[in-house]
Amino acid sequence: QQYVFRFGGGVSDGGKGDKNLLGGKGANLAEMASIGLPVPPGFTISTAMCTRYYDEGQSFPASVRTEVAEGLAHIERVTGKAFGDPTNPLLVSVRSGARVSMPGMMDTVLNLGLNDETVEGLARVSDDPRFAWDSYRRFIQMYADVVLELEHGRFEEALEIAKEDNGYFLDTDLTADDLKGLVAQYKALVAELWGKPFPQDVHDQLWGAVGAVFGSWQSDRAKVYRRLNDIPGDWGTAVNVQAMVFGNMGDTSATGVAFTRDPSTGEPGYYGEFLINAQGEDVVAGIRTPQYLTRAAREAAGAKPASMEEAMPEVYGELARTFDLLERHYRDMQDIEFTVEKAKLWMLQTRSGKRTAKAALKIAVDMAQEGLITEEQAVARVDAAALDQLLHPTLDPQAPRDVLTKGLPASPGAASGKVVFDADAAERAAANGEDVILVRVETSPEDIHGMHAARGILTARGGMTSHAAVVARGMGRPCVSGAGTLSIKAADKVMRVGEREVREGEIVTIDGSTGEVMVGAVATIQPELAGDFGTLMVWADRVRRLRVRANAETPADCRTAREFGAEGIGLCRTEHMFFDGSRITAVRQMILASDEAGRRAALDKLLPEQRSDFAEIFEVMAGLPCTIRLLDPPLHEFLPHEDAEFAEVAKATGIDIEKLRRRAAELHEFNPMLGHRGCRLGVTYPEIYEMQARAIFEAAVEVAEKTGEAPIPEVMIPLVATAKELKLMKAVVDKAAEAVFAEKGRRIDYLVGTMIELPRAALRAGEIAEAGAFFSFGTNDLTQTTLGVSRDDAARFLTQYVEKGIYARDPFVSIDVEGVGELVRIAAERGRATRPDIKLGICGEHGGDPASIAFCEEVGLDYVSASPYRVPIARLAAAQAAL
Ligand code: ADP
Ligand code: MG
Ligand code: MG
Repeated sequence: QQYVFRFGGGVSDGGKGDKNLLGGKGANLAEMASIGLPVPPGFTISTAMCTRYYDEGQSFPASVRTEVAEGLAHIERVTGKAFGDPTNPLLVSVRSGARVSMPGMMDTVLNLGLNDETVEGLARVSDDPRFAWDSYRRFIQMYADVVLELEHGRFEEALEIAKEDNGYFLDTDLTADDLKGLVAQYKALVAELWGKPFPQDVHDQLWGAVGAVFGSWQSDRAKVYRRLNDIPGDWGTAVNVQAMVFGNMGDTSATGVAFTRDPSTGEPGYYGEFLINAQGEDVVAGIRTPQYLTRAAREAAGAKPASMEEAMPEVYGELARTFDLLERHYRDMQDIEFTVEKAKLWMLQTRSGKRTAKAALKIAVDMAQEGLITEEQAVARVDAAALDQLLHPTLDPQAPRDVLTKGLPASPGAASGKVVFDADAAERAAANGEDVILVRVETSPEDIHGMHAARGILTARGGMTSHAAVVARGMGRPCVSGAGTLSIKAADKVMRVGEREVREGEIVTIDGSTGEVMVGAVATIQPELAGDFGTLMVWADRVRRLRVRANAETPADCRTAREFGAEGIGLCRTEHMFFDGSRITAVRQMILASDEAGRRAALDKLLPEQRSDFAEIFEVMAGLPCTIRLLDPPLHEFLPHEDAEFAEVAKATGIDIEKLRRRAAELHEFNPMLGHRGCRLGVTYPEIYEMQARAIFEAAVEVAEKTGEAPIPEVMIPLVATAKELKLMKAVVDKAAEAVFAEKGRRIDYLVGTMIELPRAALRAGEIAEAGAFFSFGTNDLTQTTLGVSRDDAARFLTQYVEKGIYARDPFVSIDVEGVGELVRIAAERGRATRPDIKLGICGEHGGDPASIAFCEEVGLDYVSASPYRVPIARLAAAQAAL
């Protein structure tokens, strides 16, 4: 088996289709080389080697050593330099690269191949001793940090002292001799901290770095990232070994990163940063403040240092042509790394650029309109879950704001929350349900869990392509980076801007679209649903088969749902209508009544209230199907719990307080979730369902008469386990319907059906479908009852269950396809066997989850129902599922 694949110098053993084997970076390096772009030669050790490395106790087979030697020979042939040769040394970088780009993997080691002899050689061939010694010192520092994992603070300290001793300000002020001295110190530090001298054998250096890349696949950082992003542990990473090119060879050299379109807004136009006389990491690490790529961007920012377009117009021209070529070639926005060595351009990486949801939308729509991709491809490209970011409010420009400082608009969206200064604190606070803003000097892969937990991220250092910015955009968290006036004292849990001070726990608001940081919370406004969003939704609607409804129970929710494109109501719960204002008193009288007559008297008071609720909803949803669930929760939820409340209720209802207490005690249940609830209430107190049905039909007739457009009520009986239950309850509903139609002299169409939320109901769906015209899968309860897990108590163990792979994902977020899904399949099949035109839908939380929607498409349900804000997500996910 071949493990090593070459690229560059006219050779490409792979291409962009080989990401699984070569990792994203390796596949694209090979691809760029094959289309004739200037790529420094190198080779990729495949991900299959990573897997084998772990299978064989973290060791390398002999065959791979031979292949690597051949790979090195390839680089030597193309560059005319030799690895470890003191007269003309070849230096390489060692770069990790999994299938998808993954923070948490080993950082790149640059300048590998330098030792006490080759450094002299490099000084001679380059005729630049300062450059040679700077490269060596960078190499030792990186190798010590990344491969040997020594305390990097000690190395930084030594560098700082070297500068201070000489009264320098910048790294670039250090002379060759200063750097030589620093190298000696670094080597001593390695010996002290590692217990062994810095490896002088270049092959030892190489294998050490390769082993470290593979080793980093199982690092804690990488594991956390994989867990958060659903990346399987057996993918493995590839290693790329590539000839160095030098951006630090003086003023005609530079290094930079760029996006072919703006990754925050999606606007066309190159977007990026570069640094003259610097090596790759310098830009990303935010050590010096980078310069703009284009003149337009520099001018827009009012910045002084020349843009690349101005400073190196010729190389810039070639770079711009390369951007266009890559975009056309990959038919997507690209994220690019390049280096200029003595006015010669080298391409070091390209990949599909991470982008905000807003940019994803704009780029997909623009590219379809530019003819680069089809409308269906555009639909497929926008991450449905990420649309969420666009559907939520942004800062109200009219609202007063108390601006503390301003940084870079690194990831759009607004967020308010309590300030926390470290990732663990962010995670803890978020677990307690608090909104937090994570504030760091700059972020690193160790902060990922905290960034995930936070509502937003604020950093004092780092540019638009810094770690914080890139990760925040990927996660959809608003981020303000590089707020330079901010002084953060994490240890004291305080940050300051001039005289002003913000302590941990105080609320700030960040606006990732403008870079503003404000003290306190700021009012927000609703999102814009026209434009690109509207266009993409039209395309999605053309493709999808599944209908999308909303879970809504107030007229306001219904209006939002319709604005977002809901095609009906999939679940209108009626219990909240029982709590409103004065109604609760009538409800309590009903519950406390000792006989049917008493209950009916109380229900008569509720009837007009329910009727007007339904009428309002039906008016908003005119002409659309509305599934209304009859009363579901256990009755004791409506009774008072505290002493003071009992006294109040006694007064309001005129019932003796002792009697009240006794009745409450009678209604107490040990396990209400499996207690006297759902259709069991309807079976024991049919008059409750009768009243609700009457309210529904009276309202429907009323609205039909008023607007001429009748709603289509779908009356849903909850928690059915047996066909008999449904038959009994259907009789109650039908009787009420007939009574109302006779009284009003007008009939309307309606359906009676049930929720399938108990395993028994799923299994007996064949019989249940005899009485039920529709099934709505109540997957929240169906998950609880199938897994035997109470959702409210699952927090204590479910995370671990997911971590240990017992469940692939949280089954309350994404449907458990194998278990709960099997029941859905069975019920759908058996229901259809009895009643071929039975309507099938889903109304649990899962109705808004793209993976679960894909499952619903596969089973052939008729519709999904999601909360109003998730309706567009469901529309897009339904379209993607149909593609
Ligand atoms: P990451 O995945 O973190 O971006 P990379 O492997 O892409 O890591 O490299 C980090 C930095 O080092 C980048 O800026 C890259 O351009 C630079 N770099 C990597 N290999 C070389 C090389 N052979 N010559 C010059 N710069 C390099
Ligand atoms: Mg890179
Ligand atoms: Mg339920």
